Amino acid sequence: MQDDAPLSQIVDINPLLATTIVDITAQSDEISLTQQLVQHFHKLVPVRDVHYYQLVQTAEGGGGDITKWFIVDPLDRDRRMRPVTDIDGIPACLEHGEQVAISRLDTNQARAVYPVRSSSNLMGFLTVDWLGDTPHSASLITFLLDIFSNQALLITSKERDSLTKLYNRQVFNNRILNVVETASHSRKRLTDQTTKQFCLGMLDIDHFKRVNDQHGHLMGDEVLVLFARLMRRNFRFVDQLFRYGGEEFIVILHEVTEEEAFNTFERMRRNIETFIFPGVGKVTTSIGFAHIHENEVPATLIEKADRALYYAKQHGRNSIQCFQTLVAEGKLSDINRASDDIEMWK
Ligand code: GH3
Ligand code: MG
Ligand code: MG
Repeated sequence: MQDDAPLSQIVDINPLLATTIVDITAQSDEISLTQQLVQHFHKLVPVRDVHYYQLVQTAEGGGGDITKWFIVDPLDRDRRMRPVTDIDGIPACLEHGEQVAISRLDTNQARAVYPVRSSSNLMGFLTVDWLGDTPHSASLITFLLDIFSNQALLITSKERDSLTKLYNRQVFNNRILNVVETASHSRKRLTDQTTKQFCLGMLDIDHFKRVNDQHGHLMGDEVLVLFARLMRRNFRFVDQLFRYGGEEFIVILHEVTEEEAFNTFERMRRNIETFIFPGVGKVTTSIGFAHIHENEVPATLIEKADRALYYAKQHGRNSIQCFQTLVAEGKLSDINRASDDIEMWK
């Protein structure tokens, strides 16, 4: 066999399938991974429609203990959480012990729902719709889903902080430009009196060094894990949560009014203040946040939230401060002002 023989001659493999494997395993985020799966699926299997839904567990809004299962389409920009009963066939798949469920949508159309697992955990569902009685290629689909879920697992382990399972700082750095861009467009669209806008909050645990000193580093780690869990319960699924550094976290609130932003952070502050951390007791957090303006420079935005946080730390901790409010009240100077730049060099 020649060195430059086509791949399909070297191994007995469909060239389209070979391209699919290469493209799927080249993806490094869940959105492009889902896009590649759907696009290649249409080329490989003659189906009418195909969708992937990610399964998420959440107890968002209010810090309650009741967790519920929802599905989210990763390609949906608003990351809307929908009940599993929203999609025909998914409840049947769950009832069948997470096995493939085939159902008729109408006289002409059928649907198969495939459970997607990663290391035995159910991570989502693939719905495959086809016309007429054409049998679909179950083994090919299962093979594709195995590659997809392996890659999804790899992406998750690369994007998440291993202790808290929140997005890590690298993901924050990669996403912040995009967030600022989306925030600019979204602000333009909304013209009602109570403008909804994006908001960046920085949360820092108060006197965390003391937790480590008094209870040991392992207990400190446990506080970080529980803190992250309380964050997931407090914020909405659409809000993005990151572990920014040791005991510092960042939240991007999507499309909130000033009042909603304040109330959300206040609820988080209160939830931490009232939570009894096992073996440690009470812990508090300080929060600084800034509304995201049009064409904001990411470094400036982070500095705004950081300055508001610093102000909270300097004024008793266990409180929330908004950068724009502090500027309006004359307690901080605006970063965009030229005099500020000059002050920095004094
Ligand atoms: P402040 O209220 O001003 O924020 O005080 P602080 O003690 O929280 O802040 P400081 O920056 O002085 O200390 C932060 C501590 O967080 C020091 C560091 O050892 C600890 N830390 C950072 N990362 C981790 C981690 O992953 N696990 C544990 N257990 N501790 C960590
Ligand atoms: Mg701290
Ligand atoms: Mg800190």
